[in-house]
Amino acid sequence: MKGVFPLNKFAKLRTPFYYYDTELLRTTLRAINDEASKHEGFIVHYAIKANANPKILRYIREAGLGADCVSGGEVEAALKAGFSNDKIVYAGVGKSDWEINLGLDNDIFCFNVESIPELEIINELAGQKGKVARIAFRLNPNVGAHTHANITTGLAENKFGIAMRDMETVIELASQMEHVKFVGLHFHIGSQILDMGDFQALCNRINELQTQLESHHIRVEHINVGGGLGIDYQHPNRVPIPDFKAYFDTYAKKLKLRPGQTLHFELGRAVVAQCGSLITRTLYIKKGAQKQFAIVDAGFTDLIRPALYQAYHKIENISSDDVNETYDVVGPICESTDVFAKQIDLNTTHRGDYLAIRSTGAYGEIMASGYNCRQLPMGYTSDELL
Ligand SMILES: *Cc1c(COP(=O)(O)O)cnc(C)c1O
Repeated sequence: MKGVFPLNKFAKLRTPFYYYDTELLRTTLRAINDEASKHEGFIVHYAIKANANPKILRYIREAGLGADCVSGGEVEAALKAGFSNDKIVYAGVGKSDWEINLGLDNDIFCFNVESIPELEIINELAGQKGKVARIAFRLNPNVGAHTHANITTGLAENKFGIAMRDMETVIELASQMEHVKFVGLHFHIGSQILDMGDFQALCNRINELQTQLESHHIRVEHINVGGGLGIDYQHPNRVPIPDFKAYFDTYAKKLKLRPGQTLHFELGRAVVAQCGSLITRTLYIKKGAQKQFAIVDAGFTDLIRPALYQAYHKIENISSDDVNETYDVVGPICESTDVFAKQIDLNTTHRGDYLAIRSTGAYGEIMASGYNCRQLPMGYTSDELL
């Protein structure tokens, strides 16, 4: 089974480009809202870093999600896309002064604070403006996720967050500061997580921490469990929508929310990955001694996940129905890592054929670079190509 693409519309577009199926994006957003709204106090944000294309952000904002940002630029992108300031949260280990000031000037909902020095600077900068910044502490829960080592973030060895043993000290410290208000705890254990047991482990850890805090009469308004829900990269056609029911139900069952507490989520990949494909044309078929290469006009400057994380993306030849042959699909960049897939079956591929590199709506276009003086890929939605 292959995806459905408007090939006739592609003819006038310069390749490579990203193509976003907005019908699928809308259906995905509806599924998120349907499942999350079954549970009292669940609030869903979108992690802008997965894809900040303004056309995509508009659909997500219209669906009512908040925005999770990890830089000043993302806060600006969120505001520009019309996300209201009280739905913007800002996390990151290294926030610079202008970025903090931007958040303060726009009265964002919350800063997720990752160290004591950062807490002190936020207090100082808020003081200069006569404001009180809402802050949550990002704790490092030391929970492993069964995912690629480069995308786990919640282990003690990772750079993210504050160690659990320092939790009470930092909350106590914040309570003595005039220009910050402690409102919540923040966690994020990693990405592309498909084992609900990993999220359960996070819930168990949060339950312990809450009990510990209550023994010190510390009340937490908001719990933010980050994102991380994975998608099915193997079967983008059969499983286009992640299992949001299992995901939210896991938290509803395992996390003991206190009365009035809200539970925040920050989903990135699960929202946008499956709606995007990188569309590239075949330049040459090169036959080697052992194998044949399909050399395409997209490279790791357009999609870096295979080179960076050895990520798998399903590739389809959407121009050909000829019998399958085996190819290495490679880009034009002068680096040996510029390979999208090795020894995969494609319909017999010819010069000029369009290939769709699937499930690339997240961490695709946004990670593009100009290395080799290449142009950045464009992104088109199915709506605008109608
Ligand atoms: C990257 C990130 C997310 C989103 O992760 P996904 O795996 O794309 O859902 C959420 N929260 C924070 C703090 C992040 O850094």
